Amino acid sequence: MKEALLWEEKPHQAVRCLACHHFCQIAPGRTGVCGVRQNQNGRLYSLVYARAAALGIDPVEKKPLFHFLPGSLAFSFGTLGCNFSCLNCQNWEISQISNQKGRVENYSHLFWGEKLTPPQIINLAHQNQCLSIAYTYNEPTVFLEYALATMKLARRAGLKNIWVSNGFMSSKTLDLILPYLDAVNIDIKSSEENFYQKICGAKLAPVLKNCQRLVKEGVWLEITTLVIPTLNDKITILNNIASFIKEKLGDAFPWHLSAFSPAISWKLKDLPATPPSIIKKARQEALKKGLKYVYAGNLGPSSDDNTLCPVCGQLVVERQGYTVKRFDQNGHCPKCGATIPGRWA
Ligand code: SF4
Repeated sequence: MKEALLWEEKPHQAVRCLACHHFCQIAPGRTGVCGVRQNQNGRLYSLVYARAAALGIDPVEKKPLFHFLPGSLAFSFGTLGCNFSCLNCQNWEISQISNQKGRVENYSHLFWGEKLTPPQIINLAHQNQCLSIAYTYNEPTVFLEYALATMKLARRAGLKNIWVSNGFMSSKTLDLILPYLDAVNIDIKSSEENFYQKICGAKLAPVLKNCQRLVKEGVWLEITTLVIPTLNDKITILNNIASFIKEKLGDAFPWHLSAFSPAISWKLKDLPATPPSIIKKARQEALKKGLKYVYAGNLGPSSDDNTLCPVCGQLVVERQGYTVKRFDQNGHCPKCGATIPGRWA
């Protein structure tokens, strides 16, 4: 257990957590929405510091990041807890801890994860030939203290830092992590506030604002949208997301359109899997709008996973699933020499 960063005192020994846009006011003995930040006698503590509930040595393409150190491995970890409660969550066994068994504070016997300190993470990353650390599987904002301590060590050890995030962190959290953050994949789940409120228990506006700040601060950004039948699969919604990326972020930032699968979803099990035709149509429309890099995910290996030069159409990065077959380490088109945006080496 570690005292949390970013909180303030409130009357009657309550505290307000300032890590994400929920800004939870928390009474003594209780946790915030994420279930892993607890008020103990008027001070806020992280219950998951140095407790990894999920670990993996993943291709960076799996985050997904397609224009960031292609073909490299990311040492990936996450903890329990999340500040969203997405009905479609695929990692719900670790993320939805406070929604599975009632309030966390009533479950002192709960498995909090394996003890894994930040220096141990750096060692494991090196031992496994990883070029980066990915803070992933659940929302890294809820384990900010653990992530930040690891990010600082990673930077010193020559490893890159990647957040896979819902983008709902506060501006104070961004202030803390930006000096150490190299790349981020943010979910834009819908263009409608209603979706965020009903399906995720959150809000859209802060996510969009944070995406713009990340771009302004020079962090490499890729966007993911999981397309869920009947909930966010209208072409107008997907077109709105494409327009936001193009107009507010820039046409160079990749967009990953991903297919929903009810088999691995927390709830929504009665919905069908996303028909590939919807993803393909949204991809075509986004390319027509002027987005340069739009990828289709969870549909099996396809030529839509490849990166083509937007100037001459030449194949620049060839992928098969998460495997990179070939790419130019300088990020240039081998035919016309155009620069492909990203961090290539
Ligand atoms: S990080 Fe957790 S406790 Fe803090 S404001 Fe967000 S949901 Fe609430």
